[in-house]
Amino acid sequence: MTGQPRAVGADALWHPFAPMQRVRHRKLTISRADDVWVWDSTGRKYLDATAGLWYCNVGHGRHEIIDAVTNQLRKLDCYQIFNDIANEPALELAHAISSRAPVDNAKVFFTSGGSDAIDTAAKLARAYFTARGRPERTVLLHRTHSYHGTHGHGTALAGIPANRVGAPFVGDVEQVPNDDVGALEEAILAAGPDRVAAFFAEPVLGAGGVVAPPDGFLRAAAEVCHRHGILFVADSVICGFGRLGNWFGIERFGVRPDMITFAKGVTSGYQPLGGVVVGDDVAAPFWEEPNHIFRHGQTYAGHPVACAAGLANIEVLESRELLAQSLRLEIQLAERLRSLADHPLLAEVRAGVGFLGALQLAPERLAGQPELVRLVVDAIREEGVLARLMGEGIGFSPPLTATDDQLDQLTDAVCAGLDHVQTAFSHGSHN
Ligand code: PMP
Repeated sequence: MTGQPRAVGADALWHPFAPMQRVRHRKLTISRADDVWVWDSTGRKYLDATAGLWYCNVGHGRHEIIDAVTNQLRKLDCYQIFNDIANEPALELAHAISSRAPVDNAKVFFTSGGSDAIDTAAKLARAYFTARGRPERTVLLHRTHSYHGTHGHGTALAGIPANRVGAPFVGDVEQVPNDDVGALEEAILAAGPDRVAAFFAEPVLGAGGVVAPPDGFLRAAAEVCHRHGILFVADSVICGFGRLGNWFGIERFGVRPDMITFAKGVTSGYQPLGGVVVGDDVAAPFWEEPNHIFRHGQTYAGHPVACAAGLANIEVLESRELLAQSLRLEIQLAERLRSLADHPLLAEVRAGVGFLGALQLAPERLAGQPELVRLVVDAIREEGVLARLMGEGIGFSPPLTATDDQLDQLTDAVCAGLDHVQTAFSHGSHN
């Protein structure tokens, strides 16, 4: 091939979660970015109201992270951390994460992303009980509407029915209602309390529709788990690194988990990285006894360039006081999204816990019009704002550097997009 640009349609890129039959002919190519803004390949500018895929917490183009990444590439471009090999950024980032985690004497197991982190936590939960002489503790509990990535265990733990792809799944997984402690305890008793290994919970359910837990739910759920000797795993892949105004999201609910999965905001997406924060009880068999080895790990775990990005990202979050800023912004975003609540296309506005939110489209409007959500997201895009299509809702999670003016712009664009689709429907001209 010469350097000729390929014709659209001769494209080979298969997009995740995408209706390729349509997307192959129609896509938005993002070419550059700065802070809360991105530009497409035609030069058109958009407000990045989703921070990429819920990850770009510090905003795009932060020179501190770019410099840290390029300096690290020049010094040590790559090296693995299997067995007894380490590198300085991995050591430093593990320490930085451990010292900020609401977990005693935390150990950090790095992965390449969030799905890896979930599969790591699931395997580690079972391996821990096996090491403790309780191999029958295998059952993993998860909640309705949960999203825990797309690997083997994460797919089995999917609480969004449409994401349950590739059966048969990893076994011994039980789903419980996302908001009912009584039902959780019943499920534990039904499975046999001595058979349950771990309960997985997102602090705020993200991809499942931005659903905050009822007051006291997570704390009561953790209490039930601990009473039955079950590990509480907080999946903070979305909720961490400032999104809920603290480091791991779960602090907000007064829970001290046994493990925390993280990814996304740990580097704000500048490099792919994830991991699991592991409490000292769970780590103990592997850290203190010679005969237990966790035979698990990914090639790029602890990649020095990714870890250098993580360290610089934490510094930016701190120097710009973005955790406190996030708490201020969550109120601003919630107020603005709620101002749209009476729109005839909407059934529900979910916002107010964390700097993220979702608009749920009215079921009676969606009936017979499954394309409606996409039409609204497209109309908002036409107004210069990138929002996220999430099942029957639209999601928002802007960078934590967003200003009140930018949130006004977001709200105006969403309102105009909703009006546009509403008008098109009432005139019957939507196709
Ligand atoms: N857990 C949660 C809560 C997530 O939101 C995601 C990704 N959206 C994952 C796990 C999986 O992370 P990744 O896409 O990095 O594999």
